[in-house]
Amino acid sequence: MIQEQEQKQTPPLGAQVLVVDDEPLILTSLSRLLTNAGYRVHIARNGNEAVRNIETNRYDLILLDLKMPGLTGHEVMDRIQEKRVDTMVIVVSGDVSIESAISAIRRGAYDFVRKPYEPDEILKRVQNALASRQLELDNRNMAKRLQRSEQWHRYLVNSSLDLIYSLDTEGRFTFVNNAVERILGFPKRELLGKHYTTIVHDEDVLGAAHLFNERRTGERSVRVELRLKHVDESRLHSPGKRFVPVELNAMGMYDSDGDGQRRFIGTYGVVRDIADRKRAEKTIAYQAYHDLLTGLPNRALFQDRLAQAINQAKRDNTQLAVMFLDLDKFKFVNDSLGHVAGDKLLKTLAARLRSCLREVDTLARLGGDEFVLLLPQINEATDATLIAEKILLALQQKFVIGDHELFASVSIGIVLYPDDADTSENLIKRADVAMYHAKNQGRNNYQLFNYAMDAQASGRLALVRDLRNALDHSEFEMHYHPQVDIPSGRIVGFEALLRWNHPTHGLLSPSSFIHLAEETGIILQIGEWVLRTVCGYAIKWRDAGLPPVRIAVNISPQQIQKPHFADNFLKLLEEHQLDPALIGIEITESTIMKDVEQTIPKLIKLGEAGVEISLDDFGTGYSSLSYLTKLPIHTLKVDQSFIRDIPRNAGHLSIVNAIATMARGLGLRLVVEGVETQAQLDSLIGIGCKEYQGFLFAQPLPSGKATDLLRGNHAEQRAEIKIAS
Ligand code: C2E
Ligand code: MG
Ligand code: MG
Repeated sequence: MIQEQEQKQTPPLGAQVLVVDDEPLILTSLSRLLTNAGYRVHIARNGNEAVRNIETNRYDLILLDLKMPGLTGHEVMDRIQEKRVDTMVIVVSGDVSIESAISAIRRGAYDFVRKPYEPDEILKRVQNALASRQLELDNRNMAKRLQRSEQWHRYLVNSSLDLIYSLDTEGRFTFVNNAVERILGFPKRELLGKHYTTIVHDEDVLGAAHLFNERRTGERSVRVELRLKHVDESRLHSPGKRFVPVELNAMGMYDSDGDGQRRFIGTYGVVRDIADRKRAEKTIAYQAYHDLLTGLPNRALFQDRLAQAINQAKRDNTQLAVMFLDLDKFKFVNDSLGHVAGDKLLKTLAARLRSCLREVDTLARLGGDEFVLLLPQINEATDATLIAEKILLALQQKFVIGDHELFASVSIGIVLYPDDADTSENLIKRADVAMYHAKNQGRNNYQLFNYAMDAQASGRLALVRDLRNALDHSEFEMHYHPQVDIPSGRIVGFEALLRWNHPTHGLLSPSSFIHLAEETGIILQIGEWVLRTVCGYAIKWRDAGLPPVRIAVNISPQQIQKPHFADNFLKLLEEHQLDPALIGIEITESTIMKDVEQTIPKLIKLGEAGVEISLDDFGTGYSSLSYLTKLPIHTLKVDQSFIRDIPRNAGHLSIVNAIATMARGLGLRLVVEGVETQAQLDSLIGIGCKEYQGFLFAQPLPSGKATDLLRGNHAEQRAEIKIAS
């Protein structure tokens, strides 16, 4: 045994060795021998000194003489045992009796060397003893470590948030940690001995089988996500938590029996509750694919579904439709009632749109007031137009948003696969083009896409390009539309109307380009040009000695929204030395409403300086009549849509009548726009209207003609005056 160790272990050098002997010669020679061999040697000249040393120092080995005056070697060993001193003893003695040797071994001596000794022999024995001590120390450490690590593991297993289990070869629980109660609600003891399928969701049993299977698990860990059953809700007091999604890591357990053969003894694993992670994944996936305001799919999900639907339609040789829906005048709702009301309207609208659809249809919100609709499995265009009609009809019902009752309408563009386009991108683009067309057709209608529209859309782009050059190329001009005092037939003012002399399209009226100018912001430069041009003419007329008539200029929202609009406007009049009463402005209700707080002070400032402010297109806006009293305006211009059907439409005449009565009550000037026939004029005279602007009197005129008309009107006037006098 000692022999074996000798081969395996190298004795530790630097070990502390105590040599105890009463013979000085032996003491010296032993200590020299050992010191030379690399040990740290201490000496004691008798047993008492040895015990003292042992009590205060730690020795790996003691070479101990037996026969000494005072305490004998045996007694020293007794003390060592009594005091449980951790050391080794080699007895080096001249007493060779077997009794003495036995009693030394009984007292714990490791070896026995006879005097006189061979130096080599004693070194070898010392080496062996120390090697054996080292081994023992190592083992002791290992045992300690093992004990510690077992405690550590037990601690880890029990305090783990994950469920840790082991199963026997049949798949029955042999161990579960405390986490099982928290994760699944099962008391630990209830699960022990049960088969694992007791807690696996029925649909996941098959998938779970290989986790608990000997061949599959092997010694590599296998990871799987599955659902485990939770104890019933009544016991848990947390309703709805029937299944827990978990991630499971399993491994096979093996034992090696006597003959070294590996034997499968079951599986063990770690189960992690991933409900939170699943929930987070779900939320993230939902947010990535849905519009959070309405809960509808967003553009990404729509494109996904559309791509799938196209593939399906291709396979089945069927058609599908895509609709582009844009809420009419939504910006106005947002601007006047605020974004909270706007959001509510969008939500309610989304719900109402949904109610018009089939289960297979996808309605998505692209953003703002734009929605798209995918209608798969369409047989013919009418299948789609029927749904569009259903939508338009459903929107005829009012929306109640807080204290407000609103009417919303949409413009719808419809495109069909594969006739109009065969890629998702083009389908959406062309549905948008068709929607734009619906807007131009007066909103609240649907349009089926056709190729002419596409040409129009590209025409639009070209028009924007031309518009950017129009100012530089001096292609704009102003026309002047007279406003007439009915009783006297005199021109009391003009409205300045913009015209674009387009190099190829000829003379264009604002309806074909003003919205583009507004969308692109070019309206600001154009507006500036209009004002300067109009001021120029006012001066010309004044200098030509013509009677002073007011010219009203139309102002776009973007112009009035400029912070210094009023100041700049007045500065311009001053530069031209023009009386502010000669240049008026026309502004629509919706322009004011876009930013009431900023706009009203500007209007007040202009009004106080003498600039006449007209409310244009009156009657088409949203604000209540009583709101008018709060606006700093001088004139109402009744929108021509009320005049068109007069006298046929008595309702319209009574509306104009109400407006006229109210204007008189508020002391506002009233100009009726769009009078084309004598019958219309007569009806208006019948309700007491005094001024109008319309083709009946004249078309909007280029400046030269307007000057002539003004001069003639003036001469006539003078003639009248002469006759009268
Ligand atoms: P608006 O300010 O309401 O101008 C009146 C429009 O009604 C003019 O159309 C005029 O030609 C038309 N009109 C007047 N009487 C009759 C009639 O008896 N029958 C018919 N059928 N139409 C009549 P126009 O010139 O095409 O202008 C359209 C709109 O373009 C204007 O509506 C105004 O909002 C805008 N606009 C015109 N000039 C300018 C401008 O210089 N700047 C800005 N920002 N907008 C302008
Ligand atoms: Mg106008
Ligand atoms: Mg108008």
